[in-house]
Amino acid sequence: MNTLKDVFADFKKGLEKVYEPNEIEALTLLVISEILNLSKAQVKAFPEKEVSSSQVEKLVNILSELKSGKPLQYIAGKTEFYGLPFNVNPSVLIPRPETEELVEWVISSVRKENRATGAILDIGTGSGCIAISLKEHLPGFEISAIDISIKALQTAKENAELNQVDIDFIEADILNFKSEIEHSKFEIIVSNPPYVTLADKTQMHINVTDFEPHSALFVPENDPLIFYKAITEYAVDHITDNGMLFFEINENYSEQTIELLSNKGFINIELRQDMSGRDRMIKALLNSFV
Ligand code: GLN
Repeated sequence: MNTLKDVFADFKKGLEKVYEPNEIEALTLLVISEILNLSKAQVKAFPEKEVSSSQVEKLVNILSELKSGKPLQYIAGKTEFYGLPFNVNPSVLIPRPETEELVEWVISSVRKENRATGAILDIGTGSGCIAISLKEHLPGFEISAIDISIKALQTAKENAELNQVDIDFIEADILNFKSEIEHSKFEIIVSNPPYVTLADKTQMHINVTDFEPHSALFVPENDPLIFYKAITEYAVDHITDNGMLFFEINENYSEQTIELLSNKGFINIELRQDMSGRDRMIKALLNSFV
């Protein structure tokens, strides 16, 4: 590994069993630009650029971790979500681009209706990515976020400090929820709960299934909507009139999730696709006067 070209060659060979060629290319570009402090364009433009021995040492260590299937975000201990920095570790799910689309939908819905204040609850906050990016863009709202995992909540708190926002983080299990929450009603409840089934798992990369927290991902085979049922139930009593519920969902259960919401009295239920065209998120309104 004397030049950037060699680094690309070594990463390509070392990772061929773990990732597709285009993924290896993207990962290598990201790693080099971070370690050598260069832009991606510079990395591409100077394949003959020499790499120092201390840089080689770092690159070799990263390559060996990547070979195990460990996601780069966990190796780096950080990622970006909605343009904001987040610390991540194996106790929290790595924030996904689909979830950025959900956040965008919440923010645009709030702005469209000229709502400036109120309370928002994020259920299963993980790294805190939803709660923190909402607070950043909707500063007039008071935001609470719950999670069952103490370790996840510690990471979420660190991330709130990193982004200098104030969020009320609460340890709670939505499946056995006793409302310790200060605001008994919320204008908005949002959640990206676990929704991956065993059938989905067989299609997933080992960098997800072997490294990310199973409690954030998987649902029992016999009850894939267990979290959606519990959250909808909770939301019926804890959303204000004309309050909104937002879900990230499993694309294979969009109809059932809509039915669940409609049976509980939610109206104006909208389904949206993510950037890959998959049914990925739902917005629903609660209006007790209807
Ligand atoms: N979208 C995530 C994945 O594909 C799953 C997130 C979740 O279960 N809430 O890994």
